[in-house]
Amino acid sequence: MSESLPEVSPHRMAELVTELGRVGEQPGGGLIRFVYDDAWRTAGGLLAHWMAEAGLEVRTDAVGNVFGRLAGTESEATVLTGSHFDTVPMGGRYDGALGVLSGLAALEALSKTFGRPKKSLEVVALCEEESSRFPANFFGSRAMLGTIADDEPETLHDADGMTLADAMTRIGLDPRAIGSARRNDVEAFVELHIEQGRVLQDEGTRIGIVTAITGLRWLDVTVSGRADHAGATPMDLRRDAMQGAAEMTQAVTALVEAEGRPAVATCGAWQVLPGGVNIVPEQVTFSIDLRHPDEATLDRLAGRIRQECARIATRRQLAVALNDTKLVPPAPMDESVRALIEKAAAEQGASARPIPSGAGHDSQMWAPHVPTAMIFVPSVDGRSHCPEEYTAPEDCAVGASVLAGTLRELAY
Ligand SMILES: [Zn+2]
Repeated sequence: MSESLPEVSPHRMAELVTELGRVGEQPGGGLIRFVYDDAWRTAGGLLAHWMAEAGLEVRTDAVGNVFGRLAGTESEATVLTGSHFDTVPMGGRYDGALGVLSGLAALEALSKTFGRPKKSLEVVALCEEESSRFPANFFGSRAMLGTIADDEPETLHDADGMTLADAMTRIGLDPRAIGSARRNDVEAFVELHIEQGRVLQDEGTRIGIVTAITGLRWLDVTVSGRADHAGATPMDLRRDAMQGAAEMTQAVTALVEAEGRPAVATCGAWQVLPGGVNIVPEQVTFSIDLRHPDEATLDRLAGRIRQECARIATRRQLAVALNDTKLVPPAPMDESVRALIEKAAAEQGASARPIPSGAGHDSQMWAPHVPTAMIFVPSVDGRSHCPEEYTAPEDCAVGASVLAGTLRELAY
């Protein structure tokens, strides 16, 4: 192997990000690229065009994942990199897209510097991750892993009532062929992504090596009291569900703040019944979104939250019921691939640190199946899922070069 390093230039990254960022851009900024819509199709076509220009073998699978392949000389195994190219409503130019573009630029640089790899290298633009149109989270990755349920295409529908199957059919994809998207040759998956937080920026660190993707628990908390007259019922005689619920969210916040980073909790969805200005609230339901990358910590926090809610309910003569509505276990990243990222960062002279991911990513789908790791690059002011999302071209280039170095270790 030659001693030279694969290098991606800031200019190349800026050019790719700017051009792809125009696809689906709304007047005044913000991107809308939902799976199978017109902008999504244009973006997929542009990515395929760039992959072909880079000398990669281009292919689209049954669900619309786009692949660029640099065939290996010795082995059937494939080392895969990439991310998603759909967006959230009014999203930015970097979420997902940067992982695809970095993969493309990395393969371009590797093939130019070192020629063909031993193992095949592939960059994938995954069709869907965000659930922006259909509640189909990670549809592209799940198709490749063979974990899409048979009834999903017919039962999932968008806001206009169109089924996922119809949306596929309309653009010439056959929902009955989804099974053919399954891959058994992938030996490792490496995903570059923006941090979507501000740890790297605040520390001046160039590269985050993800330790684990956070685990998540969603709970619905229903607090029941008694409806009474807002004027005639003294405070000391009330069984006010809202007062109890408010105290419970304060307790949740205090617990998680005391735990410290990276633990987070959010009480975002509220329903108050009967919901009258002059009625003491009888029933309040609120959501808790609790996240931590360590499963034992997540369990411990959830247990404490249950205890605190029960204690507050008893003191206020209220009833409380907590229901788990979603459980996503943490996804630890592969230690050997993490070590390769660390080595590649050192070779590029880029500062790096371990970091947990508080957001979900395609990598969490892959991690239980193949060695998987993630590279984070800094997000300016931690902004993401908004038009202000930004990562400087220099940081994009360092990230893509570290990705290239990692892929070189895995495939050459
Ligand atoms: Zn993303």
